[in-house]
Amino acid sequence: MLNETPRTVEEAYISAGSSTNLRVEADRMGDADILIAAGWAPCMLGGQLTRLRREWDGCSKPPLCSVTDAKLVMGSLKSLGGVLDALTVWAQAKRNPEPARFALAITSHWLSDTCNACQGRGNESIPGTPKLGRTCKKCGGSGKAAVPMGQDGRKALNMLDHCVTRAGASMRKRLRASMGRPA
Ligand SMILES: [Zn+2]
Repeated sequence: MLNETPRTVEEAYISAGSSTNLRVEADRMGDADILIAAGWAPCMLGGQLTRLRREWDGCSKPPLCSVTDAKLVMGSLKSLGGVLDALTVWAQAKRNPEPARFALAITSHWLSDTCNACQGRGNESIPGTPKLGRTCKKCGGSGKAAVPMGQDGRKALNMLDHCVTRAGASMRKRLRASMGRPA
């Protein structure tokens, strides 16, 4: 983030000398609408995320700290590329200065929000002993990592959850229809 305090939409709009249509539209649209404008139906992305979660659960849960990390695990996480693409486009529309890094940080957090510093224990470990030390400074004892990328990060994570819910609902609807019951 270049700036810790988020600019208002108006300020951002005025300061953007040239904007693509999507960028201009992004100010007026909801977070999921930005995806739709970029050609991603929330349902489609939700399906992709559901597959990615399954792939993640079935693999060794590698760290996803850099674009290089992500490239290394593309083989075992076949749905990762699509999810990163969608989030990158979304972050571009939000004028994030590093959309690819944003996409990776959000996807990584969505897959696992365990605090890295304490491995989810909530306390610092004392080297050489099984005893728990002071409350983890990183997570304040919650064991959960803070949401990355500020306000847009939070919005993106909400959007991903929304997409997964949508995909689940549409799957159930199709299932009911295929069983000959009214949806
Ligand atoms: Zn911690």
